[in-house]
Amino acid sequence: MQSVWQIKQEICEIGKRIWQKGFCAGNEGNHSVRIAPDRYLCTPTGISKGFLDPEDIITCDGEGNQVEPNSRGRRPTSEIKVHLAIYKVRNDVNAVIHSHPPHATAFAIAGIPLPEGVHPEAEVFLGKVKTAKYATPSTHDLPNSLLPLIGPETNTLLMGNHGSVSFDKDLIGAYYKLEILDAYCRILLLTKSIGKMNVLDKNQMTELLKVKEKFGFPDSRLACSPSGCVGQENNAFLAMFEQTASAQCSCESGKVEGTQDALGAAAFEDMVQAITDKIMSAVA
Ligand SMILES: [Zn+2]
Repeated sequence: MQSVWQIKQEICEIGKRIWQKGFCAGNEGNHSVRIAPDRYLCTPTGISKGFLDPEDIITCDGEGNQVEPNSRGRRPTSEIKVHLAIYKVRNDVNAVIHSHPPHATAFAIAGIPLPEGVHPEAEVFLGKVKTAKYATPSTHDLPNSLLPLIGPETNTLLMGNHGSVSFDKDLIGAYYKLEILDAYCRILLLTKSIGKMNVLDKNQMTELLKVKEKFGFPDSRLACSPSGCVGQENNAFLAMFEQTASAQCSCESGKVEGTQDALGAAAFEDMVQAITDKIMSAVA
């Protein structure tokens, strides 16, 4: 079992990875670990997660009160409310990471639900990722926007116009969820740039969810996947492909028409000039 000091070291190590991966700029993001029923370690406010030392880590209670003086005068993250709210509703969760992974946050800003039935890794390790409505950071509105979306299988959520939150039984598990989330969203955006997306059919999805269950990750979507219920929110993302295709088409034809128009106008002018020249020479 890890000592408190070792957990503080791990919090710093994970912070370094979060920063190196570009998931959080400046002082953004925060993470925490539950170490006892009413004791939590969390990152401090006002410091990059890439430059943390174990001495920077805060110890607080279930109300977010700092219960041990910090030798560096650090204060708890302003988002501790989000972390504590999740711990309260999920006894199996011992670590929470709030982050702003750019590719995933782009979806949260666009308000496009993450499509399902696209990539096995995302289906097995994340499952359905829901997006909460925007709420002002550091207020009680933020945990309140997330709580209704957290079911027993949820491990990752997007926060409208803000970022993501991942949680698991330990910190490394929560970090993997964050990495997988942003990698999945990066893949989706690259797929969109190619312009075509294949979606798993209901049989492939059912088979995948059965494999997931065998791995020890039950997924309630297995009950309805044979009827093709998975991916009902995919249209918003899929529609972007059609819009892009039609936009390219009209843009291309616009260019062609524009070029033809320009050539036509020039040819017409040449023709007018030639006729004028002929008439003038005849008159002369
Ligand atoms: Zn944030």
